[in-house]
Amino acid sequence: MTTKKRILTLAGDGIGPEIMTEALKVIKIIEQKKSLKFEITEGLMGGIAIDNTGSALPKETITQLKEVDAVLLAAIGGPKWENLPQNQKPEAGLLALRKELEAFANLRPAKVFSCLADSSSLKREIIEGIDILVVRELTGGIYFGLPRGEVKNTKEKTYANTAVYSESEIRRIVVCACKEAMKRKKKLCSVDKANVLEVSQFWRDITIEIIKNDYSDLELSHMYVDNAAMQLIRNPKQFDVIVTSNLFGDIISDEASMLTGSIGLLPSASLGDGSKAGIFEPIHGSAPDIAGTGKANPIAMILSVSMLLENFGLINEAKAIEKAVELTLNNGHRTADIAQTGEKTLNTTEMGNIICRNLTDSL
Ligand code: NAD
Repeated sequence: MTTKKRILTLAGDGIGPEIMTEALKVIKIIEQKKSLKFEITEGLMGGIAIDNTGSALPKETITQLKEVDAVLLAAIGGPKWENLPQNQKPEAGLLALRKELEAFANLRPAKVFSCLADSSSLKREIIEGIDILVVRELTGGIYFGLPRGEVKNTKEKTYANTAVYSESEIRRIVVCACKEAMKRKKKLCSVDKANVLEVSQFWRDITIEIIKNDYSDLELSHMYVDNAAMQLIRNPKQFDVIVTSNLFGDIISDEASMLTGSIGLLPSASLGDGSKAGIFEPIHGSAPDIAGTGKANPIAMILSVSMLLENFGLINEAKAIEKAVELTLNNGHRTADIAQTGEKTLNTTEMGNIICRNLTDSL
């Protein structure tokens, strides 16, 4: 790494600050053991930002975003802000953050740790060895398409949303998925609904062209979304990288993550074209029900650091974090969310400390 990389941390609400503390310990170890130095600044976002500034994504944070290479976000939201108008809630800050950073690609790995295979609601033989990456388009499609809302001049009250994708929007997400697939098993499955939707057929045509012209080493398949939802439960090991639109990805990525057992284990990255910072965060929320109790599992947050470092090109360091987590789990250490009945459980800090010790020993 030639220049000092800059990271903005947004600890947010609920369990956010607790799990961020563990992530920062991991970063410190990487710095010490690998003689690296990151420039880390803290920012406000979510409920805490509303309390302090009146806005979920304050101007000061937007300025900070422009000055960093990555954003490490814990979690935002909670009952305190639930009754605010939709556009003033903490979650509105999340959408604004993605928009500000033009983070159009949401990468969600769903990997099963063998020693936790029994925590899944599916049988061990179905899910053991799963290693899927869902690449979801995040800034287009039916969530943003116009026209939207009430349709005027209709016989009865009618509402509509519109599924829209431009060629460039499809190209950039498919190319992103191709690059990820090239780093893995070189298998890409594009999920759509081309039998019914013109926009899906367009998506499919462009995907075929991209693979034919630029990624002919990839094995490409197409699957209708209804079948993909079924196949993920029937035989999830057939998948390597899945690329799909915003709406389908929202559903498919949650389904894929649940195969692995616990929401407390899974990280994610939301990336743009590389000119702005990427966002790295656990897939779970602020878990207000356990905030302040020490029950939060810090693993999803710590694995988000691993994804961040991989994005910086620090592949060995990223892998070392993954291995430290895996070793910790293999050695039987559990937080409450992943413990079987009667098993001894660790609190957030204890789990973080053991992962840090294993990481230190491996570097
Ligand atoms: P949640 O993910 O916060 O919690 C769902 C369940 O999983 C809870 O029982 C919680 O205790 C548990 N859980 C979550 N993370 C855990 C962890 N690391 N360790 C152990 N258990 C964990 O979802 P929710 O309860 O629907 O939402 C709570 C708040 O979080 C809401 O305000 C919601 O809008 C917000 N939210 C934020 C994000 C984000 O910041 N990206 C994402 C989803 C939800």
